[in-house]
Amino acid sequence: MVEWRQVSICRFTALNRRRIETIILFINQMKQLIILLTLVISILLTACSGTTIVAAPIVTAEIDLSPTLTKTPGATSTPISTPTVTPTNTITSTPTPTWVAQGPDAVVVPILLYHRLGTSPTNNPYYIPPEKFEEQMKLLHDWEYTVIPVELLVKAITEGADLPPRPVIITFDDGDISVYTTAFPIMQKYGLTGVTYIVGNYMGTEGYMSPDQLKELVAAGWEMGSHSRSHRNLTKLESAVQRMEIVQARKVLQEATGDQVLSFAYPFGIMNSGVGSYVHFAGYVAAMGLGFTPDQGKNNLFWLQRRDIKGEYDIKRFASYLPWQGDPGFMPTDTPTPTPTASRTPIPTYTLFSTSTTQP
Ligand SMILES: [Zn+2]
Repeated sequence: MVEWRQVSICRFTALNRRRIETIILFINQMKQLIILLTLVISILLTACSGTTIVAAPIVTAEIDLSPTLTKTPGATSTPISTPTVTPTNTITSTPTPTWVAQGPDAVVVPILLYHRLGTSPTNNPYYIPPEKFEEQMKLLHDWEYTVIPVELLVKAITEGADLPPRPVIITFDDGDISVYTTAFPIMQKYGLTGVTYIVGNYMGTEGYMSPDQLKELVAAGWEMGSHSRSHRNLTKLESAVQRMEIVQARKVLQEATGDQVLSFAYPFGIMNSGVGSYVHFAGYVAAMGLGFTPDQGKNNLFWLQRRDIKGEYDIKRFASYLPWQGDPGFMPTDTPTPTPTASRTPIPTYTLFSTSTTQP
């Protein structure tokens, strides 16, 4: 009985010793593992801390901060997460063009005339397909044209003013709703603004812009101009009616939009000296006619040369009407029509009205 107990105790002790040795061995292995893990983590942390410090500014540096589109054809704005780029040297910005003093009198400023955007069911040449319009606006942007206000053009002609290298004025006659719904967002995309010549009686009627929509354009930097009250041939009207069409229309438009109305566009591009006198008397500082050149001057301040853009024109024909050409790489390649020669006709000379505003 005693022997059996001693044998049992010995076996029990030996068994426990082995278990304790196993546990101690396990603890030692765990200690080594923890030390090893600590070493690995500290190495990783050191390495990662160096990357994260520079990673945030790198992403910022690759974002194109310019509100306009990139001027490099085919260039991509894919952010590169290379941690070796210095942020201060990689921010791309559009250089400010140097404005140069021009005038007084003769200055070169192309003025484009549009009417409405869309597809005409009757082949009306004044409907511009939106995709063609966008090509044209993109080309103006890519060739670094800068929109100037009519007021600045008048200042350059009358007393001289600083103008950007490639000034342009983009106008729309009649106040069609597509100017607001289609042209406005496309032009906004390319950083361009326009001038809308509004027919007083059309404003707010079906298919034409409302005063609230015009106010929105004004808030976005667009200009308001008058295109008469009812869009009739002004040369055929009685003097009192001419006055209403030209003088009253300006007041009505100014009240409706809350913006100053500085220039006038003759309906159908038709005027005579009587009409011109009322335009001057009404306080307009300039008036838009039609024409084929970008040459503006004192002689045609009340018949500024405007190039009518038609729906059938492809991008090459459009480009041929611009006085300054840019990189042809920006031209879309799927336009097989040959480039016509740009026609430049002499500027018609009209009566230069005196600065006094006596009633005609
Ligand atoms: Zn019109």
